Amino acid sequence: MNLITTTKQYCNSLTEYSRRQTIEVKIGDVPMGGNNPIRLQSMTTVDTMDTKGSVEQVLRMVATGCEYVRITAPSLKEAQNLEAIKKELRARGCNVPLVADIHFTPNAAELAARIVEKVRINPGNYADKKRFETIEYSNDSYDAELERIRHKFTPLVKICKEYGTAMRIGTNHGSLSDRILSRYGDTPLGMVESALEFLRICQDLNYHQIVLSMKASNPQVMVQAYRLLVQKLDEEKFKPYPLHLGVTEAGDGEDGRIKSSVGIGTLLEDGLGDTVRVSLTEEPEVEAPVAKIMVDRYLTRKNHKPITPIGESPVDPFGYTRRITREVANLGGHHHVPRVIADLSRIEITDYKDLRSIGHFYLPEPDKWRMNDQGADYVYSGSKAIPFMLPNGLKEIRDYKTWLLSDDLNKLPLFTTSEYLDADKKHSEINFVRFSIEELSPEFLGALTHDKTVVAVLETTNTHAMPELRRIFFELVEKQLDIPVLILRTYPVTDEDTLRIHAATDIGGLYIDGFGDGIILGMNSDLPKEEALRWTDICNKTAFGILQATRNRMSKTEYISCPSCGRTLFDLQETTAMIRKRTDHLKGVKIGIMGCIVNGPGEMADADYGYVGSGPGRITLYRSKDVVKKNVPSKQAVDELIGLIKEDGNWIDPELIEKF
Ligand code: SF4
Repeated sequence: MNLITTTKQYCNSLTEYSRRQTIEVKIGDVPMGGNNPIRLQSMTTVDTMDTKGSVEQVLRMVATGCEYVRITAPSLKEAQNLEAIKKELRARGCNVPLVADIHFTPNAAELAARIVEKVRINPGNYADKKRFETIEYSNDSYDAELERIRHKFTPLVKICKEYGTAMRIGTNHGSLSDRILSRYGDTPLGMVESALEFLRICQDLNYHQIVLSMKASNPQVMVQAYRLLVQKLDEEKFKPYPLHLGVTEAGDGEDGRIKSSVGIGTLLEDGLGDTVRVSLTEEPEVEAPVAKIMVDRYLTRKNHKPITPIGESPVDPFGYTRRITREVANLGGHHHVPRVIADLSRIEITDYKDLRSIGHFYLPEPDKWRMNDQGADYVYSGSKAIPFMLPNGLKEIRDYKTWLLSDDLNKLPLFTTSEYLDADKKHSEINFVRFSIEELSPEFLGALTHDKTVVAVLETTNTHAMPELRRIFFELVEKQLDIPVLILRTYPVTDEDTLRIHAATDIGGLYIDGFGDGIILGMNSDLPKEEALRWTDICNKTAFGILQATRNRMSKTEYISCPSCGRTLFDLQETTAMIRKRTDHLKGVKIGIMGCIVNGPGEMADADYGYVGSGPGRITLYRSKDVVKKNVPSKQAVDELIGLIKEDGNWIDPELIEKF
């Protein structure tokens, strides 16, 4: 890995929390950026022509903490109806700023900009139609295209200036124009350039009420694009415009929360972001509370314990390279996926069925063990040795002192640093050593360098946890110390969403940068056994979810489902649940479920299959980006989708895991 020069920084500091200073943008009575708090926002899902339904939904969203509400305006008539919605909201005492969401329709944008407080345009489709073609552009023809954009976009900018309307230039990875794709490819740089083309026009017209976003459904791409955007804004001496953070098509439930936190949380940790929208395929009023859990962590973050600064990052923050480590058993090396180690150290494990919480199932008939795709690879039992033989190749890690009491070679020791340095007896193949940043002495690092059996277990008590752990990784990279590393995090038992969101931020942020060979995730409170097992199940699934969201280990089907909006042509939540029910055993298969044919095909990014609403009661099925079946009646569309997956040889029959 090469050193990245400080000129390629994308945030104030990699070790000390501080928010990037941005300019303040006025959006109705709720300004964004500058010294304002990180704002929460969301988007309605009812038809924009349904004034009453829209108003009721906006009021529900505001009641749960939403500070701006976006409403789709696919054509002039919806843009016009924003006036009625706004009037009714104001009459009911609700002053929430409204944002018109525009794709493809400059005329709707120009009308909406006279009515609402902010318009969102997508630079990928404001002036371009998506043709899914690769067109070769000469410099002249490229410049001619830019002129065409300037001509189409200038009227909107002038209206925004005149009416004091703010604008978001919101790039989506899935809907880059053919022009951008031809020159920059499907890359974070292409995403950034897509926004900059429009930003330069605003700059020339001296219009600055601008917010920028770089969304993608893949958190890795999204994080890289935002970082690159900041770096380019600084490099080209643009004003520091506020950033709107979001992961598109994140899906629902725990997957949606984890994927969103990995992307949004990673950026928030480095002080980026002035507003957050979490896109869940759920009711929109659910989104702001989830976003609030993400951003509230930073209200007091400034007071964190200091971390020794680092001048230069030894890894490229704009690209992904997994830190290459030496192989120790099935950990690290080039080809092992990161492992999941279930933390059972606070539970007295007495029975086979206790292991169901970590994906291992004992079937009394026919007296066999099975595991599902989220079966933990190791268990950490601390000082509470497990009294029976473990199944399915599962290995047990015990605290060193407990480990010393047994001669069983299948049990593995976990040392503290002093135990490790003083130990007379070690395991012949794997020795886990837990340490924090304070323990990185030259003597200790020297001992690790020469021990080919050691696996590091990194921990921290710093509230600025991810950057402190990242700082240790930087140190290991700089010292060319290639030991595999497990990331250990424990959390207090609060509520499920908080655990998922905090863990996905702290651990996911490291995996986004290529750091980590495994995760140990647990609670730091003692609970009654049944409750502790329930939380163990949540931790185990969260660990697998983080590895899936960061594309490090696929253990389940990946759903890329849009949050739905006024364009949606079917009940997305119900349909997603129905598709999930029949396909959630197809490990690694990516299925896009999109509400409309206008934006859906572009937005579903790298899905293997697409299920896209193409008219009332009609679905169009895609294989990757290619249409395979048009206008299938929705009643038979899921069967047809499964038929398609079978045709491609990607189907397996669901295994029946007996529950008892
Ligand atoms: S893909 Fe979904 S969220 Fe996006 S415009 Fe279509 S229906 Fe709305």
